[in-house]
Amino acid sequence: MRISVIGTGYVGLVVGTCFAESGNDVICVDVDENKVKMLKRGESPIYEPGLTDLLKKNIEEKRLVFTTDLESAVKKTEIIFLALPTPQSEDGSADLQHVLAVAKRIGRVMNGYKVIVNKSTVPVGTADRVREIVAAETRQAFDVVSNPEFLKEGAAVNDFMKPDRVVIGTRSPRALAIMQDLYAPFVRTGNPLIIMDERSSELTKYAANSFLATKVSFMNEVANLCERVGADIDMVRKGMGTDPRIGMQFLFAGIGYGGSCFPKDVAALLNTAKSYDYDLHILDSVESVNRRQKQVVVSKVKHHFGDRLKGKTITLWGLSFKPNTDDVREAPALTIIDTLLKEGVTLRVHDPAAMAEMKKKVGNAVKYFDSNYEALKGSHALIVVTEWNEFRRPDFDRMKSLLKEPVIFDGRNIYDPKIMESKGFVYYGIGRGERVKGKKG
Ligand code: NAD
Repeated sequence: MRISVIGTGYVGLVVGTCFAESGNDVICVDVDENKVKMLKRGESPIYEPGLTDLLKKNIEEKRLVFTTDLESAVKKTEIIFLALPTPQSEDGSADLQHVLAVAKRIGRVMNGYKVIVNKSTVPVGTADRVREIVAAETRQAFDVVSNPEFLKEGAAVNDFMKPDRVVIGTRSPRALAIMQDLYAPFVRTGNPLIIMDERSSELTKYAANSFLATKVSFMNEVANLCERVGADIDMVRKGMGTDPRIGMQFLFAGIGYGGSCFPKDVAALLNTAKSYDYDLHILDSVESVNRRQKQVVVSKVKHHFGDRLKGKTITLWGLSFKPNTDDVREAPALTIIDTLLKEGVTLRVHDPAAMAEMKKKVGNAVKYFDSNYEALKGSHALIVVTEWNEFRRPDFDRMKSLLKEPVIFDGRNIYDPKIMESKGFVYYGIGRGERVKGKKG
């Protein structure tokens, strides 16, 4: 099948490459000329495990090409995926300017039947808006399909190749047949291809992300309560998660959710509900709990150092919003860096993949180190911000010899408080039984 993918970012590049891998001819389009130049050389502009090999292979086999020429890509293909950014606007709504502008350009150059597939996360009703915009520009037949993407950065290739489910929102039998054919190789093992109308499909994506964000905020609240009552969130998590109605996944307490999806998708769903005069009370709380949680580590640091904080040096391990990605969008690290710099702290940072991205955000306001141990030299404390695997089993004696004071704030609960204590560290986790406040009264 001949496919174009408009927008070659974290989603578009993976989608385009994986469709090429399953034998389709794919044209990936992006406005960013530098990105397209890199991709033509077989270099991935993003860090995503397993992606570069597939990219190179499919370029060599001539199934995957990159261009900035949207019009010719549209003319040459029958299925057009939109994988464009839908960032958060000031009022919280999803900004649809890229999606709607591209829809208009597609409409203008259509030379036959096309299936326009929305992969971007877009508010309910966007398929209808895209349909109207395209229809105003062309007399050609076309369909607009909603096909939200559920891949996770850091495991994106595997998620796309072996999806838990594929959601297809369309009421057109013609478009549906094409989509079923396209996805057949990806659902061979029996994982469901769920067919529904466009609006339900659009809402499914927001409901799924908002539910996951709810799990995170819920566990963070329970963790904060653990600290007050002297309980251990890790034990509570295990005790809860073994109930199959709850499940073990996504129950880790930490320093708040970040990334390019949860924050903006929660905000956009709140905005959608508001525009229909409905208050999503639970989601409102999810958002405010998350804002507070991003400050939890900083509060612990302030509490530990008190008046002595100004002039201290602190090391951060991890900058990306989660492991195995270089994505720092809305990462808790940004809040921690900003707050600690304002407190007059010097920051030494290390991340296995995200230092270049962080440099684009905060420049040289922090000092970057290629080695996590080097970053510890002379610091008064370490904050574990992202749970990269390489931080899980470090040489604690070496760490102790490098740190000026053996203090660890573990924002991801990757170390055992008892072991840390036995090794002579002052250890702060999240919800690990520290009594931060006595019982009232
Ligand atoms: P991104 O910012 O990484 O990529 C978007 C790409 O589109 C960029 O390369 C940009 O240069 C390009 N672009 C912008 N305007 C363009 C235009 N007019 N023509 C061609 N290219 C253009 O974004 P992303 O993370 O890939 O997200 C894309 C969409 O997918 C969003 O709606 C997002 O919510 C959704 N989504 C993202 C993820 C994720 O994990 N990142 C997962 C599921 C869904």
